[in-house]
Amino acid sequence: MPSLFVSHGSPMVALDGSPAHHFFTQAGSLLPRPRAIIVVSAHHQGRPIEVTASANPPTIYDFGPFDHRLFKLSYPAPGEPALAQRCVELLLDAGLPARLSMSRGFDHGAWIPLMLMYPAADIPVVQVSLPVDADPTVSWRLGQALAPLAVEPDVLVIGSGAVTHDLRRVFGQPMDAPVPVDTERFATWIGERVVGGEVDTALNYRALNPDGVRNHPTEEHLMPLFVAWGAAGRPEGQIAHQSAAYGGLRMDAYFWV
Ligand code: ZN
Repeated sequence: MPSLFVSHGSPMVALDGSPAHHFFTQAGSLLPRPRAIIVVSAHHQGRPIEVTASANPPTIYDFGPFDHRLFKLSYPAPGEPALAQRCVELLLDAGLPARLSMSRGFDHGAWIPLMLMYPAADIPVVQVSLPVDADPTVSWRLGQALAPLAVEPDVLVIGSGAVTHDLRRVFGQPMDAPVPVDTERFATWIGERVVGGEVDTALNYRALNPDGVRNHPTEEHLMPLFVAWGAAGRPEGQIAHQSAAYGGLRMDAYFWV
């Protein structure tokens, strides 16, 4: 299976008809149908890493007072306890402390893209958290630990975060607000690293590119990129989608086949 990174943007992407919304609705059909999905979202961090182990994980509404219609949506995809157990074993083998969580469900970084990509909710989903304070290298290792699952049993690994994520420049902006120059520049730069398979350069983005620091005051939304990249069978990726929302959010997606 390929691996995929998506920028999940605002929860409103579930409803807003934006270019990213339309990308999500088509993305499922661009990929081979997985037997199961592992999703790593920027909104779930655990110490140790948490893996959803319920057969029916709940939908979590982990956002503020957005449009009331969002609270009527849900994503009732089944979990898969055996796959969750396998994830924990692979993470422990890689030296990454991890445990099963029977109570944790899918946060909006996981369920909103999945609801648009696979609306039938008939593919089992396991959510794996980031570690608390994840950095690029540990996120990459997390992805590498999960990579064997892409081969057998046909598991699609999705990292869900954001190519750019400075919320101070997003709040109060209209959907079609102009994109700051450094936001465009960083999205272009990280996309070039993905296409070129330049893993080490991307892992060191904070030291090498001030635009990266500017667009990620905190790092968590970029970490799912490194998880998906680490899970990939090859370093060279492809750009699956490019758009922007609310000025500061680039909504780019990448996949590795
Ligand atoms: Zn987010």
